[in-house]
Amino acid sequence: MLNIVIFGAPGSGKGTQSERIIERYKLMHISTGDVLRDNIRRGTQLGQTAKQYIDKGQLIPDQLMIGILADVLDQNRQAAEHGVIFDGFPRTIPQAEALETMLAERGTAVSAVIGLEVPEQELIERILLRGKQTGRSDDNLETVQSRLQVYHNQTSPLREFYVGKGLYHPINGTGDIDEIFASIANVIDKL
Ligand code: AMP
Repeated sequence: MLNIVIFGAPGSGKGTQSERIIERYKLMHISTGDVLRDNIRRGTQLGQTAKQYIDKGQLIPDQLMIGILADVLDQNRQAAEHGVIFDGFPRTIPQAEALETMLAERGTAVSAVIGLEVPEQELIERILLRGKQTGRSDDNLETVQSRLQVYHNQTSPLREFYVGKGLYHPINGTGDIDEIFASIANVIDKL
């Protein structure tokens, strides 16, 4: 079973590359951002809570987010039989520790963390472009600044966390999308 964490700042290409990875390796895609946006669209209680954080560029509290992920895993046991690509989770050290426990309880583990590395100025340009193209509400200049701040403070320490476990694979996330995918496939094929 392949369990891949796709890791990187907002705008680093996690969603784009996840689509290619699931196609080639038949993994199940879990994007916590997509799960939350779907709840917002459907007007659920969770969606209403999540919106308050997302619109400010802040993270949903760990305990809530960990519970959501456990539910998604439990509801998709069949779909996840070849493994999962985790996109947007974990975003904090407590989430990473919870993921370890959740996977261990299900008899599996994180196989690799693919870190998409992109310079900050390019991240901002990509996010603003995506905001124009998709109308995504948190892809505006004001929210981008707080999302990047949150990334630096709460999420980027995960890089060292996974380096320490020998699971982190840095990938240059700039340039041609196909070339970036080729570098990712090169890592996954060796697992
Ligand atoms: P994304 O689509 O991954 O960029 O996520 C969009 C927003 O959803 C983030 O800015 C957070 O507010 C929230 N979110 C997504 N995943 C998580 C997570 N693992 N922990 C906390 N908040 C999250």
